[in-house]
Formats: sequence, C-alpha cells, structure tokens
Amino acid sequence: MLHISKHLILYNKIRAVNAILRSASAEVEYFQAKSGIHCIKNCHECCTKQNIYASPLEFYPLAYHLFKTNKAYPFLEELEQAQLNDNSTCILYKPGLFNLEFGCENYMYRGLICRLFGYSFSNDKHGALRINTCRIIKREFADKLNTLPVKTKKPEMQKYYSQFYKIDFIEANRLVPMNEAIQIAIEKILFHYQFRTRRPA
Ligand code: SF4
Repeated sequence: MLHISKHLILYNKIRAVNAILRSASAEVEYFQAKSGIHCIKNCHECCTKQNIYASPLEFYPLAYHLFKTNKAYPFLEELEQAQLNDNSTCILYKPGLFNLEFGCENYMYRGLICRLFGYSFSNDKHGALRINTCRIIKREFADKLNTLPVKTKKPEMQKYYSQFYKIDFIEANRLVPMNEAIQIAIEKILFHYQFRTRRPA
C-alpha cells in the first residue's frame, strides 16, 4: 500500500512538472508573438553552452518518457561516456545526427532552462522586470528590446521556480550541471519504476 502511494506521488510530480513546462513554453511563445522577438533560424547556440545548470526535477518528464520507451539505460550509458570524455555539452544536443530544427533530440521533453533561455524575466534591484536574454537576441533585436510591450504577460523565471518548489522543494533547489540533472532524473525514475509490473498510462 505504501509502495502504491509513493508511486502516485512521483507520477503526480511528473505530471505537475510537465504542466509547468508546457505553460512556460506557451508563455514564451505568446511573448515572442507580441514582442516580435524570436530565435534566429537554425540557431542553437544556447544548447552548445558548457556548464549550464538545471534541476533534476525539470527532467522528470524526459526521464519518464525514456523509461517508457526503453531508452533509459542506453541514455545512462551515453551520459557515462560523455562524462569520461569530459564533455559537458547537453547530451540531448545532436544537430548533425538528427538534423532537427533545434538540434535537440528530445525537444518535447526539454527542461525549463531550455524553454526560458533567451526569454525569461526577473526583477532588477528596483523591482522592475528585466529580460535575461542571449547575445544574439540582444544584437538582432536591440530596438525591440528597448520598446518591450509593457502590459504583455512575460515569462517570469521566479514564478516557474516557485511552482517547482511546491512540487519538490529539495529537487527543485538542487542545481547541477545539465547532464547530471538528466542523469539524476533518469536514475530516480528507474529506481522507482523498474520493480513495478504495472505502469501508469
Ligand atoms: S535563445 Fe539565443 S542562442 Fe538560444 S537559440 Fe535563441 S537566439 Fe540562439
């Protein structure tokens, strides 16, 4: 009985994280449409950055998807190999191999940091909302950045992390390098589900 209730808690967490990730994407898309600011075609410079930090929680949906599609163990092996090669670029970034528009192997299950990169807002020391963006958007959309629509809803980073804290305070606060976050999430899901005979839908 205890096992079932623990399972439900984890499954509910995965669903809750998924809902937040989708909501963040929707808010970013809305902001892009209203502001006219968007990523440059085929740019994925942010995916190539080293030493990006994320929380394992934001990769629970990815880990669960990998588990359901029997890809969790191969992924762990890939992560181990990347670590041996001292490669800290996100493991999901594979532009050459998959020829995907955004270069992400699992774009649907990308983390919160990936969704907000270039478009998140946070309060400055005066309490005003300021955009945290990349050098490319700063260069390409300098004019638009200076005249951002005041009343348009903006993707606020703190809002999403606050929602994450309510799901799992410890995991949401645990910021580690991207690949480590993915690895922890996969191990957590595997540990929890691998002994189960009945999987949730
Ligand atoms: S956020 Fe910036 S670096 Fe990342 S894909 Fe968009 S334009 Fe490129």
